Amino acid sequence: MSTFDYDLFVIGAGSGGVRAARMAASFGARVAIAEDQYMGGTCVNVGCVPKKLYVYASQFGKGFDDAVGFGWKGKKPQFDWTTLRDNKKGEIARLNDIYDTLLQGAGADVINGRGRIIDAHTVAVGDTHYSADKLLIATGGWPFVPEFPGNEHAVTSNEIFDLETFPRRLVIVGGGYIAVEFAGIFNGLGANVTQLYRQSLFLRGFDLDIRKHAAQEIPNSGIDLKFEVNVRSIKQIKDGLRVELDDGTALEADAVLYATGRNPNLAGLGLENVNVTLNDAGTIAVDHAFQTTEASIFAVGDVIGGMELTPVALAEGMAFARRQFGGMNQQVDYDFIPSAVFCQPTIGTVGFTEEQARVEFGELRLFKSNFRPLKHTLSGREEKSFMKLIVDATTDRVVGLHMMGPDAGEITQGFAVAMRAGATKAIFDTTIGIHPTTAEEFVTLREPWTGD
Ligand code: NDP
Repeated sequence: MSTFDYDLFVIGAGSGGVRAARMAASFGARVAIAEDQYMGGTCVNVGCVPKKLYVYASQFGKGFDDAVGFGWKGKKPQFDWTTLRDNKKGEIARLNDIYDTLLQGAGADVINGRGRIIDAHTVAVGDTHYSADKLLIATGGWPFVPEFPGNEHAVTSNEIFDLETFPRRLVIVGGGYIAVEFAGIFNGLGANVTQLYRQSLFLRGFDLDIRKHAAQEIPNSGIDLKFEVNVRSIKQIKDGLRVELDDGTALEADAVLYATGRNPNLAGLGLENVNVTLNDAGTIAVDHAFQTTEASIFAVGDVIGGMELTPVALAEGMAFARRQFGGMNQQVDYDFIPSAVFCQPTIGTVGFTEEQARVEFGELRLFKSNFRPLKHTLSGREEKSFMKLIVDATTDRVVGLHMMGPDAGEITQGFAVAMRAGATKAIFDTTIGIHPTTAEEFVTLREPWTGD
C-alpha cells in the first residue's frame, strides 16, 4: 500500500487534466484534481464551446439576408447581446456541473484552489499539503498581451464573451485562429470590425492558397482587414478608446481584442521547487510518455506546446492514464491531425501544406477548385469556396487537404480518417460523390492544377 495520499494528483481541470483524472480513477487509481478557476478549462469556459455558440449566433445575421432570395420576406430581427451572453452563461454553468459530477462519479477528489508544487511528490492547495506518487501538470495556456502604452485597455478571449455592452466598433489585433474567429463572430453580430495583422499575410502556418483565399473572403464579408500595421498605444477617450497605429493613423473603438497568442500557464506553480525543464518556448519539456525531467512529474495539453487543440489534450491525457495506470503502452500519433478555424467561411485543414509537402515529398500533384456554392446562386451572397488536394506524385497518396467554405470542419473531419488510412488519389477518384454537396468536390477533382 502506497504511503502517499493519492496515486495521482492532477493540477488543472481542463480538457487534458479531466480526461487523465477520470481515466486513471476508472483504472482504480486514487486521484485528486485541483482547479482554481473553472471546471472544464479554456475549452468549456472561454474557448471552443462558447466560441462555437457565438459563431452560430453570428451566422443568423447574414442568414436572414440570404433568405430573401429564397422568398422569405419581412423585417429583419434585431440582435440582443445580453440574451446571447446570458444564455451562453447558463449553458456553460450546466457544463461546469457536468464536469464536476463526472469527476466525482469516477471517484476523483475535486479540490478548489490553485495547486502549487512543493516537491516532487507534494502539492499545496492553500495551506493544505497533499502527497501523491505521480503529479500531472495540465494547466493549459493563458492569453498573451504584449507590452505597450495603454495595453490595460485591451481585452482577451478570456473577457470578450462577457462584455457588459456589445462593442459596436471592435478592433482585433492578431492574425491567428482566435483573431479571425472573433472577427467573423462580431462582424456577423453587426459590429464594425477592424482586424490588424503585423505582417504581410495572416494565418501563418496554413497553406498559402488558403491564406490568400481568406485574405480575399474575409474583407468581402465586411471586415476591415489591415496588414503590415500594429498598435502603438491605446488611450481612453470620452466616447470609447483611441487606438493609435504605427502607420500614423488612429481608430476609435468600443473594445480592442488582443489575440496575439497564448503562453503556458505556469505562474505560481512552484516549478522552481523541482527539476522540471522548460523548452525554449517556455513550455514544459516531456518525453513520449509525457514524463518531465522530474521522474514523478508529468504534463499534458497546451502547457507542453505542440498543437494547442482540445482533442490533442484529450488524447494525451488518455494516453498518459492508460500507460501509467492501465498497463497499456500507448503513444499519441500526431500525424494528420485535422483542425478547423471557425472564421466565416470556415477553414478546414489536414495533413501537409503545399510548402511543407514539397520539402517532405519532392514532386507533387495539386488539385484546386474555386467556386460559388449552390446556395449563393439564389442568396446573392458574394462568397467563394476554395478546395485543394496535395498528392505525393511518387506514391499517389493524398498528403494534404485544405478548404475554405461552409461546413469545412465537418467535411475535413471525415476526410481525415481516409487520409490517416493512407488513401491515394486513385481511391478518392473511385469514391462516388454525394450530390449536390461541397464535399463531393474532393472526389471529383480530375485535372491537376498546372499554374495560375
Ligand atoms: P496564434 O499563435 O494562432 O496567433 C497569434 C497571432 O498574433 C499571430 O498572427 C501573431 O503574428 C500575432 N502576434 C503575436 N505577437 C504579437 C505582437 N506582439 N503584436 C502583434 N501581433 C502579434 O494564437 P491565437 O491566440 O490565435 O490562438 C492560440 C492557439 O489556440 C492557436 O495556436 C490554436 O492552437 C488554439 N486555438 C484553436 C482553435 C481551433 O481549433 N479552432 C480556436 C482558437 C484557438 P505572427 O504570425 O507574426 O507571429
